[in-house]
Amino acid sequence: MEYKVSIALLHTQLASGTLTCVQHVQQYLTNIQANTHLNAFLEVFEAEALERAAYLDELWQQGTHLPLHGVVVGLKDVISYQGHKLSAASKILENFTAVYSATAVERLLQAGAIIIGRQNCDEFAMGGSNENSAFGKVLNALDNNRVPGGSSGGSAVSVQANLCQISLGTDTGGSVRQPADFCGIVGVKPTYGRISRHGLLAYASSFDQIGIFSHTVQDAALVLETIAGADNFDSTALPSAVPPYSQYLHDTQLQAKRFAYFKQSFEHPSLDTHIKQQFEQLFNDLRRQGYTVEAVDFPLLPYVVPTYYVLTTAEASSNLSRYDGVKFGYVHTQAIQSLDEFYKQNRSNGFGKEVKRRIMLGNFVLSAGYFDAYYTKAQQVRQLLHTQTQAIFEQFDAIISPTVPTPAFPFGEKSASPIDMFLADIFTVHANLVGIPGISVPKYTHISGMPFGIQVFTNKEKEAELLATAAFFEQL
Ligand code: GLN
Repeated sequence: MEYKVSIALLHTQLASGTLTCVQHVQQYLTNIQANTHLNAFLEVFEAEALERAAYLDELWQQGTHLPLHGVVVGLKDVISYQGHKLSAASKILENFTAVYSATAVERLLQAGAIIIGRQNCDEFAMGGSNENSAFGKVLNALDNNRVPGGSSGGSAVSVQANLCQISLGTDTGGSVRQPADFCGIVGVKPTYGRISRHGLLAYASSFDQIGIFSHTVQDAALVLETIAGADNFDSTALPSAVPPYSQYLHDTQLQAKRFAYFKQSFEHPSLDTHIKQQFEQLFNDLRRQGYTVEAVDFPLLPYVVPTYYVLTTAEASSNLSRYDGVKFGYVHTQAIQSLDEFYKQNRSNGFGKEVKRRIMLGNFVLSAGYFDAYYTKAQQVRQLLHTQTQAIFEQFDAIISPTVPTPAFPFGEKSASPIDMFLADIFTVHANLVGIPGISVPKYTHISGMPFGIQVFTNKEKEAELLATAAFFEQL
């Protein structure tokens, strides 16, 4: 299990001849074999990964050294990889094969990465515990009775347990940062649009963003600078040039000096006392070192989760309407009398409970009689949040908080109550509502033995500052 190799170390070892790409892949395959009980992978591309590793070894011998040469990457099963299955951990797409690759995947491959498999997650990325997969839950490798977080649980556990070097997940409301926090690894969600969404199965299009899991900030920065940037296939992808983030990590000019935290977050009843104490100590330490750490009033905090769930379910109800058994997806084979019945059976049997709950909720908030009361109101709150967040960034470089109010919880603890599960997203959804980047950096061990980290937000397109600040916390 202890095969923890950074990208820099991999390249040093390839250069010195102490490791080959084939051996590197074999190590991960061995770890995957030994940890099938974690249920992190839905499919492992064993032969293909080894074949590509052999090709990359040859390339290296010939003197071609690519930026992500030999880096072993796993993909959350909502990211398209041409010719490979793409299920969204749903029965409705169980037999679907991707017809093209996501832009992020194309860029990984061009940079010399090896795709090792597709990873389990909550169905259509809806969830925070990975209990909503049609293919079984994923276990946290540190404590198999606890959730790994979600929805990108398989991707987080794969890095946590060294089943691959890097994973790509998606973060619509925290699905990269929250499982990273629960698993004790780095998880970064860039600015909305920083990484193209082309080839990503949509959950809530104005929130969705691909994110990266790694053991170190340095590795996350290297992957981000490779896959980010403009894309003709996604008009929402940001056109601005992508800086070489990995070279700026130790630039003290970029590291945040003025930190804001939300008064309401630290007064929130859901915040675990041990986590709270640890953050109070952190704030004092930072102040002693000369940093500004100030509480700001953030009365909108109680509205972020409801706003998020109104808007994302509305978008999801529209995005998921294509899975009807005609254009895509599972077809119910029993005798059917009418077209209506056909759609109904396909969708009722193809989707899981949580996805159906959200489609119904989304249709409800969009329905004629309730549109203004829910959807329009939520859009107004989103705008207000945006304005207030921008005002904070006029005075501060970064916003800091725990990533989640509690460490990883035991299976079943929140699955009976959707509201409890939704509330666990209280610190993460803000970044998606306003489109700013966020990162979870592993730092502490809770009295329960589980890890928890520090979440940092910076303003839009300030990934260089975000990552430099994260690197500072990593070393603190
Ligand atoms: N837990 C959140 C939800 O269920 C976040 C999901 C995500 O980011 N994909 O919607």
